[in-house]
Amino acid sequence: MKTSGRCPKCGSKRVVRVPDQARRHASGNNIYVTTLTLAGKIPVIRYVCADCGFVEEWVETAAEREKIRRAFG
Ligand SMILES: [Zn+2]
Repeated sequence: MKTSGRCPKCGSKRVVRVPDQARRHASGNNIYVTTLTLAGKIPVIRYVCADCGFVEEWVETAAEREKIRRAFG
């Protein structure tokens, strides 16, 4: 969906990218690699199909993925 721009469930092309909200500290959608506030916060970007509501989630940068690998891998 992120790369194709098309919903894999219904085939719609009305896919919306929903970024992490930096101001919303308590977002439940982030991954935390440390318990120390924002330093270990990895934003998870969502892609939402505007037609059927299917949601796909991505950690977008390699640096962020590496942090997760070190914390959990
Ligand atoms: Zn869809």
